[in-house]
Amino acid sequence: MATYILFWNPDISSYTKERFLGDFSAGDNVGNWSFYEHDDVRTEDVFYMVRCGEGKTGIVMRGEITSACYHDSDWSPKNRRNIYYADIFPYCTINPWSDAPMLTPEILTEAIPDFNWFGGHSGRRISDEMASKLDELFYAYLDENPSMFCRGDATYTYSLEEELPEEIQEKMLARSEGSCEVCGYSYRKVFGDAVNDEYFPRIKPSILQSPGLNRLFYNICLNCYRVPDRTLAAKLLNK
Ligand SMILES: [Zn+2]
Repeated sequence: MATYILFWNPDISSYTKERFLGDFSAGDNVGNWSFYEHDDVRTEDVFYMVRCGEGKTGIVMRGEITSACYHDSDWSPKNRRNIYYADIFPYCTINPWSDAPMLTPEILTEAIPDFNWFGGHSGRRISDEMASKLDELFYAYLDENPSMFCRGDATYTYSLEEELPEEIQEKMLARSEGSCEVCGYSYRKVFGDAVNDEYFPRIKPSILQSPGLNRLFYNICLNCYRVPDRTLAAKLLNK
């Protein structure tokens, strides 16, 4: 699975601020995007979109590429011949015209200096090592800023928690040593090595969105997961 960085400058893009805000408030998807490195793009590859240019810059989307690249006419008035697009589906979108704190090109450069996070060709692949650093940075940022979701400055689809990269899931589960953070239950503690790992998948990092909570992701067992969010949040806030 490869990771591609898409750049978006709303001041020159056919995808304008107005189109973004319309899609954002309606919960609609941008549809497709142009890719500079188009030969090896595959369905299920990952993309990050970085807003560049004027205004609040930084990551505005993470999601999945849902088609191979296909040739089409240039989105820009330059009418270039060699323009390729792929369909994209964001799991998470951050509105740069809101109070949402941004994962800025400066922060990205400090963590991953071998890439120009301020702009350039859109649709370039980054190395697996860079991608895993970027995932770590991005999910820590989401986790530390739950209020941007509560305020509606950022949105996610249901699949965001389903699509957490495995490394990230393991790190999050380690925070509570694999126990449910609401009820404290741990299959591993109860059964030890007596049963196989296949019996242990029922506690997972889940989004719990409620004002007052200081994280976005909590390790929750499937039983607790059925309880309404506000009840879970009240329980966590009382701890
Ligand atoms: Zn539980």
